[in-house]
Amino acid sequence: MARKFPAAENRTVKGIFVCKRCKSKQRTSATKVVLRAVKCRGCGSREFRALRKIKTAK
Ligand SMILES: [Zn+2]
Repeated sequence: MARKFPAAENRTVKGIFVCKRCKSKQRTSATKVVLRAVKCRGCGSREFRALRKIKTAK
């Protein structure tokens, strides 16, 4: 569902995704994550989530 606000997603996530298993960060594009073309270096898992723990105080 990255169709709605692609520009906004790029700004918040910045192409960084976190492995759901070992929580290691990896730089990829959202489309690759959706298509499962990305493998985690640590555990080899293909389940990633977007990094969204940045505070937007300003
Ligand atoms: Zn992993």
